[in-house]
Amino acid sequence: MKRLTVSVLLLALLLSGCGAQMSPDEAQESIQVIAMDTAMLITTYGERSPAAAYACEDTIRDLEKQLSRTLEDSDVSRLNASGGEPVEVGEDLGVLLELARYYHGSTGGAFNIAIAPVVSAWGFTEDSFRVPSQAELDGLLELVQGPSYIGPRSSGGAICYSLAPGQAIDLGGIAKGYAADKIVKVLQEHDVPRANINLGGNVLAYGDRPDGAPWRVGIQDPARADEQNAFAGVLELTDSFAVTSGGYQRYFEEGGKRYHHIIDPATGYPADSGLSSVTVVAGLGEGGGFPGTMCDAYSTALFIMGEEQALDFWRDETQWEEQGCPFELVLVTEDGRVMVTEGLADRFTLEETSGYTLEVVSR
Ligand code: ADP
Ligand code: MG
Repeated sequence: MKRLTVSVLLLALLLSGCGAQMSPDEAQESIQVIAMDTAMLITTYGERSPAAAYACEDTIRDLEKQLSRTLEDSDVSRLNASGGEPVEVGEDLGVLLELARYYHGSTGGAFNIAIAPVVSAWGFTEDSFRVPSQAELDGLLELVQGPSYIGPRSSGGAICYSLAPGQAIDLGGIAKGYAADKIVKVLQEHDVPRANINLGGNVLAYGDRPDGAPWRVGIQDPARADEQNAFAGVLELTDSFAVTSGGYQRYFEEGGKRYHHIIDPATGYPADSGLSSVTVVAGLGEGGGFPGTMCDAYSTALFIMGEEQALDFWRDETQWEEQGCPFELVLVTEDGRVMVTEGLADRFTLEETSGYTLEVVSR
């Protein structure tokens, strides 16, 4: 486990291109955390910024211990190894199982944490990449599309869940968003006036920038994924989550084809929907909800759905009403377009050199 205290240099990287005028007397702390299979950057401001930044790190590490598929004694690993027996789960996993069940329903099955055995068959869990046979995928998909996990059941004061034999869950599509929701509470408890938290593509723009302007959040250009700071455009955000999913982040190539880590539960294959990334943006909300988790689940699911279905999903107001949490989208398409939903239109600037054309989508 690495804990690097990094200085203003990394902050400058994070805010690249923004030319922030920071007030010189505002304390800040910036730490890099390698966790949940990604590099995270936590920058907090205000008098209690060091304590706040390290409390954010503790929150992430605590969640990783519970939710990792690769740590043997995590709640998730115990559940996955249970062979169908009920397993006691901690509060965080209990909440995530219920949220994931909801997102599975709301996305018509595109978001499905029971995808785990398929993700593993492609080698994404252990970094041992391979293309599974159709017969193997067909067998695994029966588990994925089969009955959902059972629970919560109360047993002697403990909360228990069980999976069907052979089933397993993977919270990779949702855990960082949930961590971001918990981090909001940590920042509030530490009276942090502003913070910029980047959990490997899950950005939390908390408060505003030290100069009073909104935070600038770059949307990576998927076509130039190996270039740092190669953006398709930039969002200006305050008190918001912005979560991006794309096939360019984690993939392998075989026989001249690229296979990435976001799996369409309908086919067992990496999603091939014509989108190269999806960013979901939502405000922090009134508290009590899980907007960060929602953005994470929906960025994964809408990437699988593709442009048309994703925009229909955005237009469907029942989604908003049920969750009490409006959201907006930035879609980058494989054919060179950036689509921005109307609520973000005046907060998004296309990167001129990117070569994309911009379309604003209305309701
Ligand atoms: P990242 O974790 O790279 O930010 P995502 O949030 O889109 O990207 O999550 C991708 C991860 O989610 C995969 O690595 C896998 O663990 C898991 N996953 C893959 N396909 C699905 C799916 N259809 N539903 C839910 N989770 C998925
Ligand atoms: Mg996600």
